[in-house]
Amino acid sequence: MNCRFCNGDMKYIYTLNSFDIIQCVGCCSSTVSVPPSEDEIEKYYDGFMFNARPSRKKFIFNSKIEGWLKNMGLPANAAMLDIGGGGGFFSHAFESFGLGRAFYVDLDAKACEFARNELSLDRVYNTKVEDISSLPNNKFDFVFCRHVIEHLTRPDELILQAIDAMADRGVFHLQCPNGISLERLGYYSYARKRVKALRKGNPNFSGLSAWALMLGKKIPYGINPINHLWSITEEGLNAFLAGIDGIQYEVFTAPLNDAVYSPWLASGGVKKTAHSWLMASTLGKIRGGAHLIATIKKLDGSV
Ligand SMILES: [Zn+2]
Repeated sequence: MNCRFCNGDMKYIYTLNSFDIIQCVGCCSSTVSVPPSEDEIEKYYDGFMFNARPSRKKFIFNSKIEGWLKNMGLPANAAMLDIGGGGGFFSHAFESFGLGRAFYVDLDAKACEFARNELSLDRVYNTKVEDISSLPNNKFDFVFCRHVIEHLTRPDELILQAIDAMADRGVFHLQCPNGISLERLGYYSYARKRVKALRKGNPNFSGLSAWALMLGKKIPYGINPINHLWSITEEGLNAFLAGIDGIQYEVFTAPLNDAVYSPWLASGGVKKTAHSWLMASTLGKIRGGAHLIATIKKLDGSV
């Protein structure tokens, strides 16, 4: 199989959580060599969102998120498509800030229930993203897809479907982990868990060799089967978007303490805030912050 992002060759790097991980020799995006079955995936996601709490609303209802949404340059009463938005917080914010109507799509029935009952969203669809075209609205001014594509076996297809669903001059915010970022290694419990998983999957690894791989590009940050099946890089995403006609785009990274791209993590206490600032300013500067973001604009079809 070739890389879904840059078409480069994929080579085995190691085993993680009983899955063989393969990495692109070109852009360093990585995935599992044999993806889990649809059944396994569906079973895994049934109730995935059980930990969403209404109290999280406060992290989204702030002037930074409001300013960010209002600066998108969207038309009045815009239509938003929120793909697998982890309970619908951003949809709720979008409507509450008076930007328009949100359509929330999620495979997880419990996340949909939460969006409907706890966040009072009216347009909630418990369906696959492939079925976007059957929604009552099918062209969207704002498409929002945050930390979803890394969960899929075919992230490239979702990106194409989302671009298809954009209205002319629409804006698409796509976000996933930055596959080569070192930032998260500065969080001790994360790093320790990762080293442990690497040594478990590859009995020949010492702690030192596991660290050496992660500090190199064989990290690949974000992958964690069966949950996260892809780790995508800036280079890969740029290569992929470059092949799509009719769009303008920008790909960049953001650190874990960013209030807009990382609202939950950015809201810790003083000690946590100092730690995340330090990691963002050190490890996060080497190969970019932990979030990989693409802002995609659809060109006016008439031009
Ligand atoms: Zn690649």
